[in-house]
Amino acid sequence: GAGSSTGGGVRFELEKETELRFEVEAGERVQLELLSGLAEVFGSELNRNKKYTFGPGSKIAVFTWQGCTVSLTGKTEVAYVSRDTPMLLYLNTHAALEQMRQQAERDNERGPRVMVVGPTDVGKSTVCRLLLSYAVRLGRRPTLVELDVGQSGVSVPGTVSALCIERPADVEEGFSVQAPLVYHFGSTTPGTNIKLYNKLTSCLAEVFSQRCEVNRRASVGGCIINTCGWVKGSGYQALVHCASAFEVDVVLVLDQERLYNELKRDLPHFVRVVLLPKSGGVVERSKACRRDTRDEKIREYFYGFRGASFYPHAFDVRFSDVRIYKIGAPSIPDSCLPLGMSQDDTQLKLVPVTPGRDLTHHVLSVSCAEDEGTGPEGGAGRRGILESPVCGFIVVTSVDTQAQVMTVLSPAPRPLPRHTLLIMDIRFIDLK
Ligand code: ATP
Repeated sequence: GAGSSTGGGVRFELEKETELRFEVEAGERVQLELLSGLAEVFGSELNRNKKYTFGPGSKIAVFTWQGCTVSLTGKTEVAYVSRDTPMLLYLNTHAALEQMRQQAERDNERGPRVMVVGPTDVGKSTVCRLLLSYAVRLGRRPTLVELDVGQSGVSVPGTVSALCIERPADVEEGFSVQAPLVYHFGSTTPGTNIKLYNKLTSCLAEVFSQRCEVNRRASVGGCIINTCGWVKGSGYQALVHCASAFEVDVVLVLDQERLYNELKRDLPHFVRVVLLPKSGGVVERSKACRRDTRDEKIREYFYGFRGASFYPHAFDVRFSDVRIYKIGAPSIPDSCLPLGMSQDDTQLKLVPVTPGRDLTHHVLSVSCAEDEGTGPEGGAGRRGILESPVCGFIVVTSVDTQAQVMTVLSPAPRPLPRHTLLIMDIRFIDLK
C-alpha cells in the first residue's frame, strides 16, 4: 500500500477494504485519479481516469471495497493507507436503514428518520453524507436536515436547513444545493439562543412531515439529521427535543459512550440508539480552521465554488426601504420581566435594529416573510418572521449614516426581493 512516485504523481495500490487518507497543504491543490479498480470518496464513486482536484485544507479518504490503484499529484500534508476503518459498520448501518425503507414501502409506512449525534470532530457530517449517497445510489430520495449552525454543509453558517437529495454528493463539491429550505438562526452556536434553535428544529420537522404526507418517495426515503457537536446541558436537551420533534426512529451516536447511555435512558424505548466508532481518519479541526471553513462557505455563496462561477452585485439600500431585526432581546432577570412575560418571549422577540456603522460586514438574511402591509392580511406579522424561511443573504459592506444608506453585496441585482432583514452575529469581510 505504500506510495511510489512515478512521472506526475504518487501511486498507491489499495487492497480491498482499505482507504487512502490525505490532507492538502495550505495554499496547495492536490489531484486524485483512479487508475484501476473501484473506489469512492465518502460514498460517491470515482470515475476512472478523471482528475479530481481538492483545495487547500481538504481532508479526504479514498475507500475501496474491491481494491484499486490511485495516484495523487500535488503537495499533501499527509498521505497514508489505513486498513483500520469503520466503513463495514457504516455500510451495515446503511443496509439496516434500507431494510426499513423496504418495509415502509411494503406496509405503506414512513421510512427511517435518523439523527446523527456526537461531539465535535467525530465525522458526523461525513457519516450523513455517506448514508445519503448510499441511499440515493439505490434510487431513494432521502432528505438531509442540517442542524449544525457552526458548520452547515447546505447553506451559510448561522442557518438550519433541509435539502432533498436527488443524486450522490459530487466528489469535489459535495451535495448539489438546489432549492434548500433555509431558516435564519443568526449565530454559529445554538447556545446563543437555544429557544430559537429548538423552535427552528420544530419548524423544519413540521415542514418535512408535511412534505412526507404529499410525497411518497420523500416519506419512504426518510431523513438524516446532522446535529451540532455540543452534547452537554442545553445542547443535549436540544438533541432530545430534535428526536421528539422529528419522531426519529434511529439515533446514531458517534464515538461517545456516555452520550449513548444518556440517550438510551432519555429517549422512548422504540427509538433505536446505536453506538458507532468514529473513523481514525477524522481530523481534529482547530478554532481557526473552523473559522476559515465558515468564511469559505460564505465566499462560496457569493462567488461560487472556487471563485469562478458567480458574480455578485453591489448596490445601495436606503434605510427607509428595509426593516432590520435581531432575534432575541438580551435576557433580563426574571424579576424584572413585565407581568405575564417569560424568558422565552424575550429570546423569540424581534428587536428592531437601528442601522449604524456597526452593521458593517454583518451577514443579513433576507426573510421570505411578506413585507408588512403588503401581505394578504396586512403582512405575515412579526410572529410570522421567525418561522419564515430565508430567500437569500446579503453582506453590508459599508454604511453611510448621513445619507441614510448602506452598500450591500448581494447574489442578485437590485432590488432586494423582500424588505425584512435579519441580522446575524456573523461577519464576512469581502476581500475581492
Ligand atoms: P463538526 O462537529 O465540526 O461538524 P464532524 O463531526 O461533522 O465535525 P466531519 O466534518 O464529518 O466531522 O469530519 C471532519 C473532517 O475530517 C472533514 O474535513 C472530513 O473531510 C475529514 N474526514 C472524515 N472522515 C475521514 C477519513 N476517513 N479520512 C480522512 N479524513 C476524513
